[in-house]
Amino acid sequence: MSPDGPEHRSGHVAIAGAPNVGKSTLLNALVGAHLSIITARPQTTRRNLIGVLTGSGFQAVLVDTPGLLDPAYRLQSLMRRHAVQAIESADVLLLLVDAQRATASGFDPDRLTADALGIAGGRVPVILALNKVDLVHKPSLLPLLAHYHGSGDFQAVVPISALAADGLEGLMDEVRRFLPPGPALYPEDTLTDQPERFFAAEYVREAVFERYYQEIPYTVATQVEEFRRGRGKTYIRVVVWVEEERHRPILLGKGGRGVKAVGRAARERIEALLEEPVYLEIFVKVVPGWREQDGRLRELDLF
Ligand code: GDP
Ligand code: MG
Repeated sequence: MSPDGPEHRSGHVAIAGAPNVGKSTLLNALVGAHLSIITARPQTTRRNLIGVLTGSGFQAVLVDTPGLLDPAYRLQSLMRRHAVQAIESADVLLLLVDAQRATASGFDPDRLTADALGIAGGRVPVILALNKVDLVHKPSLLPLLAHYHGSGDFQAVVPISALAADGLEGLMDEVRRFLPPGPALYPEDTLTDQPERFFAAEYVREAVFERYYQEIPYTVATQVEEFRRGRGKTYIRVVVWVEEERHRPILLGKGGRGVKAVGRAARERIEALLEEPVYLEIFVKVVPGWREQDGRLRELDLF
């Protein structure tokens, strides 16, 4: 089918939900690329990131958003603003709920979905994806599905496992059904709208989180200071911001071994993306209180 024929469908699909429900895992699984960094920590995603999924007769511009949460400081209020903007400008809202948490006793998932539904305000079709069903005993899923079907809030309810890439075809069938008619918004081979240097910074941040799960708090930022393509090799310098002086030696490690290991992990991912050798240098800088400073947040392109 032609990408601009009358039957073609296209639009923006906001992937929203509470922190850690698997939004970024789902985006990556759907586009088949490691675009959005994933860690076991909530609040890893700080800004909206698109992944373009082009199929036969449709193009879905998937928008991964930061988790909806009540902001406690400036960075979080910007994160919430990004998520709200994505939901407000979406053609379809894909709302994720963690099926395991939802089936746990004493946990009320409706409080989380009500927030997103309130922002959507009935203007867009809402598809509910019950994620992480690989962790749930099947019989306990049935009442949950019945509950959401019965609520009348959702055009479709689909159980999935983003991690196991299970149920994704059925999910995309529903998404496609609710996309408005329209031509492709991006060339067919487009994956995302972010420049390569964005991914360099993100992969370093991901590697820091992976290596220092306990020791280094969530308040790490990464900034690319130099990104220079040479003959067959790219030179990249990334600065890692930490909030406290005591985090610097932790990150550096004995004889610089910590930062070297972070660099190795990040470099491999950047090389896979750029498909050429990379020379990656990492520096650590103490930037107290950056989460509260508009100037710093602007430097990180988070504003
Ligand atoms: P986000 O904060 O909503 O973007 O969540 P992430 O995609 O970063 O995932 C948070 C955590 O949940 C990570 O440790 C993922 O590996 C895990 N996760 C995501 N989807 C699934 C799933 O379908 N099954 C299981 N078991 N874990 C998942
Ligand atoms: Mg995320």
